This record gives sequence, C-alpha cells and structure tokens, in this order.
Amino acid sequence: MPTTKTCDAIVIGAGPGGYVCAIRLGQLGQNVVCVEKESVGGVCLNWGCIPSKALISAAHTYEHAKHGAVMGIKVAGIEVDIVAMQAWKDALVKKLTGGIRQLFKANRVELVTGVARVTGPRSVLVQQADGTDLHLEATKAIVVATGGSTIEIPGLPMDGRQIIGAREAVSLRQVPRRLCVIGGGVIGLELGTVYQKLGAELTVVEALPQLLTGVDPECTQVVERKLLKAHARILKGAKATSVARQADGSLRLTVQVGDKTDTVECDVVLVAVGVRSNGKNLGLESAGVNVTPGGVVPTDAQGRTNVPSIFAIGDVSGPPLLAHKASKEGEVVAEVIAGHAAAKDWAAMPAAIFTDPEVASVGMTAESAREQGYEVKVGKFPFAALGRALAMGVSEGFVKVVVDARTNRLLGVHAVGPNASELIAEGALALELGAVAQDVVLTVHTHPTLSEALMEACGAAMGQAIHAVNR
Ligand code: NAD
Repeated sequence: MPTTKTCDAIVIGAGPGGYVCAIRLGQLGQNVVCVEKESVGGVCLNWGCIPSKALISAAHTYEHAKHGAVMGIKVAGIEVDIVAMQAWKDALVKKLTGGIRQLFKANRVELVTGVARVTGPRSVLVQQADGTDLHLEATKAIVVATGGSTIEIPGLPMDGRQIIGAREAVSLRQVPRRLCVIGGGVIGLELGTVYQKLGAELTVVEALPQLLTGVDPECTQVVERKLLKAHARILKGAKATSVARQADGSLRLTVQVGDKTDTVECDVVLVAVGVRSNGKNLGLESAGVNVTPGGVVPTDAQGRTNVPSIFAIGDVSGPPLLAHKASKEGEVVAEVIAGHAAAKDWAAMPAAIFTDPEVASVGMTAESAREQGYEVKVGKFPFAALGRALAMGVSEGFVKVVVDARTNRLLGVHAVGPNASELIAEGALALELGAVAQDVVLTVHTHPTLSEALMEACGAAMGQAIHAVNR
C-alpha cells in the first residue's frame, strides 16, 4: 500500500515554471508538495539557460583576451582548459539549485523526488527515487509543469558522445575539432558559437531558408555575418537526413539541399531541431485533460486546463518555450489557486538569444504589424554611432523600433548588438505601459550607456534622433 499524503496543491516539475509556482504558493500560505524526477531547477538551471550562458561568458572572455591587443592589452600564452571551465560552470549550477532548495525550505514547500503520474483530477501517484510509491491528494489543485524534450531526427539517433543534444553539449570535456550543428535555431547558434570561439570549425545545417526563423531578418543577418567572418560553413534550406561513422571515428553527415545531396565531415554532431512539450505519458488523458498530439496541454487565461482542478504552465502549456514565460505563468497560477484574481494578461513577452552579437526582441516586427493592419513607422539607431558601444569595442548591430504611425504607440523593439538581452527590458516595460515613442525620447537616459540606442531609435521614428541623420 502506498503512503498517502494530503496537501493544498501538487506541483509536478521543479523547473522555472514549477519551482516559481511552488514558492509563490508557499508565500500565499498554501501547503504545497513539488515533485521532481531529476534536479530542482529543471532544464533551465541544470542543462539549459544557465550552463549555456556560463559557457558563452567564458568563450567571450577567451575571445576578448585573444583580441585584447586592439585595446593595448597583450596576453601571452592564453589557452582554454575546458575541464576547468566545466568545473566552474558546474559549481555555479550547484549554487543556484542549492538556492532553490533553501527557498523551498523557507517557504515550506515539500520536495519529493520521483516520477509523478496523474491518477485523477486531484490525485497523483509518485514512484519515488527509493523505489516506494507515494500517493498525493490535493484539496485544491494539481499544476503540471513538466517542460519539454529534445526532438530527435530518425536517421540520427543520439549516442550521447558524438551525436548529442543540448544537454550533453553544455558538458563537453573536449572542444570538438569539427562541430556540426543541425538546426540553425536558438540552441544551435548559441552553443555553436561557444565551441566556435573555443576553437572548433563550425558547420550549421538549417532546413529553412533563414537562420533563427521568426526573428527580425535584419537582426539575423548581423549574427550570420559574424559567424561567416569566423569561417563557419552555413547550409540553409538543408535537411540533415543520416550519419555514417568513418573508419577513423569521425562522422560523415548526409544533407539534402533542395534536390542535391551534400556531405559534412565532422567529429561531433549537435542535434538542435526543437523541443516538444511533455504532456504525454503523465496520465493526464485518463484524468480527462485534453492533450494535443504534439504533447501540449492547452490552458485558459488563468492557466487552467479543461479539468478545473488541473493547471499547466511553461513549455508543457505551449509556446513561447521560454523560461520567463513559464515563471510568470507559475506566479499567475499560484495566485489563482490561492483564490486571488489573476490572469495571464501581460502585454509583451520579450525574448533574447545569446549569440554574438546578442539578439533580443519584444512585440511586433514591422512585417507582423503591417499584417495586423497597422501603418507603421520604423526608427533605427546603429551601435556604431554610440560612444559607449565604441568604448566597449563592440559596435555591431542596432536597435530598431516599430511604431504605430497613427498614434506613435510603440509596437515592437528589436535589438542586435552588445547587451541586447539587457536592453530589451526597457522595451518590454515601455510596451507593458503602452508607451508612445515620445515617452522614451523624453525619458532621460544615462550617458554614456548602451541604453541611449533605444532612446535614439525612438527619436529616429519621430524624425528627431540627435546622433543620426533623420531621413
Ligand atoms: P528552434 O526551434 O529554435 O530551432 C530549431 C531549428 O532546427 C529550426 O530552425 C528548424 O527549421 C531546424 N530544423 C528542424 N529539422 C531540421 C533538420 N532535419 N535539418 C536541419 N534543420 C532542421 O529549437 P532549438 O534551438 O532546439 O531550441 C528549443 C527551444 O528552446 C526553442 O523553443 C527555444 O526558444 C528554446 N530556447 C530558448 C533560448 C533563449 O531564449 N535564449 C535558448 C535555448 C533554447
């Protein structure tokens, strides 16, 4: 007989959706149990956002040191110790996941390690790590926060060593001599850039005609140019179909480019062709919850599924597959379960891609705004005209704003360049508050900072940029 435990809410998954939801539930006085089968922090903290950003910073540091002579800094004998780099990354991941465990304790969230299965509208069976079963009963709700899983390509079965996914790619103990990334999306370009900077020859194989599909194409061009300048081979409109191991242990990848077949010789293949939502195999369907064939669990504005006591947040509830979207949904759902009025009603969802240079955006592109019937004005300001960017030695890229020509309301902000991931926060706030371009122009921006680029781009949209010729 399994042990039975009763609580107010059960959260399945302790990623950036689940752990935030559990903490907020605890803060709101709810008795909560969070079930996690692997490590608290989920993909984001353990194998995704944080480890990849650590490696990106390390790769940048190496590159800056190598090219420091431009700024009058000459470094001799510089080399990469990837094992030490990984140890540094592992230590900071441990610190962050340890921090979540402490926050769980402080907010009286009980963590259960095991695999959860939904057995009814308010019940969950956990196969615990120690082999025993635990039966959980929730008086109020179950929150499904089980994330997503890497999509595999049938002809390219992953072996965890030479044909790998993002999870293994953030833990490599050797820089591959030749790395081929399949999928020129977010993961492929972020991690491809890391190993390119650390010395690998990089090939990117992308099925669609553009890298980073969905991103403002002008922004993507800046990233692509830099990858090519560093001698990457980029195959677009190219589908990886199969791989063969050579006598010397290297790999030969077969790629279909239109009606032609091409090959790529490499040592490691990183498969980064997307993520599928983890709504299947959780018992949700038998509890009456709708799950799409793609594994997505649809929800309403309060994060509720079609079964009123079961909620879903984060990657499992569908796109955009972003950690900060998961966390915000987690907060909303916690408020709803605690009986407060809350809904997912944010006006803007920012996104950042940590390539070199970084790309970040919030709101509509000019194209999508026009498709929605807006007449738009576009204002653009290049970092090459900004003192701070030049003083930092990083002046590629620009900030671009999309403005409603009738009302001057900001509809979108797109940035490619230094610290774009940080700069986009001001754009998100502006959109959330329904700002017009003049609001940003009239806001005093510290000089000399990169943030002046957004102010100038808004000025350009109004024909009043100071440090650019208005056209
Ligand atoms: P993605 O959807 O960003 O990119 C996958 C790419 O693979 C697409 O461009 C697709 O056209 C291509 N592709 C598919 N099949 C192919 C084939 N057979 N051959 C060649 N190309 C093929 O997915 P991802 O990069 O795997 O990332 C997964 C998810 O994680 C995304 O939703 C992303 O938003 C999220 N993520 C976000 C961040 C961030 O916000 N910085 C970082 C990492 C991951």
